[in-house]
Amino acid sequence: MLLSATRYPILMYHQIRPLPPPSDRLRGLSVAPDAFRRQMTLFRRLGYRGLSVRELQPYLRGERSGKVFGISFDDGFVNVLTHAMPVLDELGFTATCYFVAGRFGGENDWDADADTARSPLMTCDDMLAWRDHGHEIGSHTLDHIALPHVPTYVSDFQLTESKRQLEVLSGQRVESFCYPYGNQDARVRDQVAAAGYGNATTTRRGCADASNDPFLLPRIPVAGGVGALRLLFKCARWQVRRRG
Ligand SMILES: [Zn+2]
Repeated sequence: MLLSATRYPILMYHQIRPLPPPSDRLRGLSVAPDAFRRQMTLFRRLGYRGLSVRELQPYLRGERSGKVFGISFDDGFVNVLTHAMPVLDELGFTATCYFVAGRFGGENDWDADADTARSPLMTCDDMLAWRDHGHEIGSHTLDHIALPHVPTYVSDFQLTESKRQLEVLSGQRVESFCYPYGNQDARVRDQVAAAGYGNATTTRRGCADASNDPFLLPRIPVAGGVGALRLLFKCARWQVRRRG
């Protein structure tokens, strides 16, 4: 088996769309639709099953083992629904999308300073379609805030209110959280746990296993036009790498 059955990659995607020009600062956070399809198809062909972060938890706790990996999408872009979901459904994979609860139907206006064209975010109905296809709804705060940089009462509100709103809208428990910009510290980590989430992902690179704090899970970023085989070897490399 190429990938180990005790440490699991959680892939981190943002947008699935034709790659923007090299001048676009967020090009590296986009993966072309055909590249995404090839990546998922290769994993499937080798017998691996993609799971939402919630469904991956028993594997991370060491209660289960198998040929699985995690799939996550940050921010809730419409292009995830149009380009990624059909591929996931076809292959029988599930995934987690981290929604910015205060921005349904809006745009990634938090990237206003970045040299990038804005992209539309899913509407509430889009989010319900994502749920109805068996995928997980995670929280990415209300306003895509860098949590360690705001007072405690603000970060607490962003964590609890986004969870509450997503649960009311979806009728499901929201267990998974993702730190905007990967920004976290000990205070925020404890606030996420206290808000009732079961896990949280970061932008720290690596594979996850039972030794990880479930509120500080590392991920493998998937950038630009990376080939499917290269991505697989990248995951395998991170699995054997010792944590620093
Ligand atoms: Zn984000």
